[in-house]
Amino acid sequence: MSSTSTDLPCVAGLHHVTAIAGDPDRSVAFYTGLLGLRLVKRTVNFDDPTAYHLYFGDGTGAPGTLLTFFYWGKHHSDALGRIGTGAAAALTLSIPRGARTFWEDRLAAARVATRREERLGDPLLSFSDPDGIPIELAESIDDRCPWNGTDVPMSQAITGLHTAPLLVRKAEATEVMLKAGLGMTRVAAEPGRTRWAAGAARPGNFVDVVVAGADTAAAAVGIGTVHHVALRAPDGDVQERLRGRLQSCGHAVSPLRDRQYFRSIYFREPGGVLAEIATDGPGFAVDECPTRLGTTLRLPPPFETQRDRIMAALPPLILNP
Ligand code: ZN
Repeated sequence: MSSTSTDLPCVAGLHHVTAIAGDPDRSVAFYTGLLGLRLVKRTVNFDDPTAYHLYFGDGTGAPGTLLTFFYWGKHHSDALGRIGTGAAAALTLSIPRGARTFWEDRLAAARVATRREERLGDPLLSFSDPDGIPIELAESIDDRCPWNGTDVPMSQAITGLHTAPLLVRKAEATEVMLKAGLGMTRVAAEPGRTRWAAGAARPGNFVDVVVAGADTAAAAVGIGTVHHVALRAPDGDVQERLRGRLQSCGHAVSPLRDRQYFRSIYFREPGGVLAEIATDGPGFAVDECPTRLGTTLRLPPPFETQRDRIMAALPPLILNP
């Protein structure tokens, strides 16, 4: 049977977005205590085990709900980064319709300054996290079930990622990659921004291509910036087909990397943003009981023999969310 366009592999939405922060305790307090996400895994950066890698998400750490952070401490002399072209411009999360006022009040009580905006016709609240990472809460119709282990009412709670806003100088090459390489479709636009969806046009499936103003500098990797954006492949077979598709479109794709909770390939999209395609499985319960996610430091087998040395180099994480 001949291949048709319907046979083209397609990503299944966003998997996670990873940013760089400074202090892990402050970050845990903000994302769990204030934003009401669950800390679903505490581990180390597999490429630099002297630093924490923490994952926040819904109750199970489902793909599409995940924010992850690398922590750059004092050992990085050029620690502060800059938001700019060639990186995602914000962490954009989904909240229920009408929930903006709740978040405005809750953030004001925590002395976090917020700003009301409209985005493609929908209400949005923007603010910054303690490291200066821009955060956007976008109102939307979203049937995902949020984590219920906090004081945030379920009716107002963050349900997961909404979109990933890729800030680029020119949209065209990035849009070609989203369409031809990842199988996404264009679903909405406003001046300076086009919205693309993987499958159904709903929160968690979106990527926005945002064209930067002429005076916007290139992004500099460091604290306060988004490091990379990961898209979902349901399984390794689809991931391999996506690799082939991206390579046939001229993109250089990394070898497969085992990230313990998922398996990943990486490439740099034409606008400069580091992108990842991660499998849905095996998931966060692979090395921890689902009821105890995020409560102890988990290390993948290659690092387990060095646990004492790794733990001695890490700052203590005092919070117990
Ligand atoms: Zn990643």
